[in-house]
Amino acid sequence: MDAPAGSAASPMTAEEGIVADGALVLFSGGQDSTTCLAWALERFARVETLGFDYGQRHRVELDARQKLRPALSALDPRWAARLGEDHTLSLDALAAVSDTALTRDVEISMGANGLPNTFVPGRNILFLTFAAALAYRRGLRHIVGGMCETDFSGYPDCRDDTIKAVQVALNLGMDSRFVLHTPLMWIDKAQTWNLAAQLGGTALVDLIVEETHTCYLGERGARHDWGHGCGTCPACHLRAEGYRRFAATRS
Ligand code: ZN
Repeated sequence: MDAPAGSAASPMTAEEGIVADGALVLFSGGQDSTTCLAWALERFARVETLGFDYGQRHRVELDARQKLRPALSALDPRWAARLGEDHTLSLDALAAVSDTALTRDVEISMGANGLPNTFVPGRNILFLTFAAALAYRRGLRHIVGGMCETDFSGYPDCRDDTIKAVQVALNLGMDSRFVLHTPLMWIDKAQTWNLAAQLGGTALVDLIVEETHTCYLGERGARHDWGHGCGTCPACHLRAEGYRRFAATRS
């Protein structure tokens, strides 16, 4: 678990270990961001969620968000009390400047630069910038995202150094003290499943299996033990492999 600078200075409420400042979670409806939302609900007195609509080829992920929020609230009355507003921002401009497999109907492949063509250049920098602008307006100090350097796909905007640089830039540019949290940065997919189990037990793991969406192709498809998806794209492979290793530790 990372220990973001500045979090120790946040005021605590009467509730043991709960940070009184609010948090904004980048919430796509996938496995990672759902785990991050549960992580935030366990820590912050008020948690709002943000989703981006940027012409994803698959809208199933955006639909999953709407099921997951009330389902998370139903798991724990403390989480229900802390979960606040949901926000969706349209980023059509991102689709317009991108030429990738996520936004156009083309095969997923590796580009000459060693990055998969699913890469939307600078996507997380844009996401975090919009998140900070919204957090500023909403009075939320903490921003939580599922960026991860461990299962590294080569996405340079998922790197820890990138996130730290963005935090500095946002705080200078907005004269603020945002803290960017990336609870998944140094853990792999099996450990992400395990984190969900620690946060919400079998009920949360089951919810993530059933309702979160990861597949690049946007397929709900067959129900595997790790959830729904095509089962063959890189995202499904990563999720399935992580679940297999997680399940092996539980049996
Ligand atoms: Zn897939």
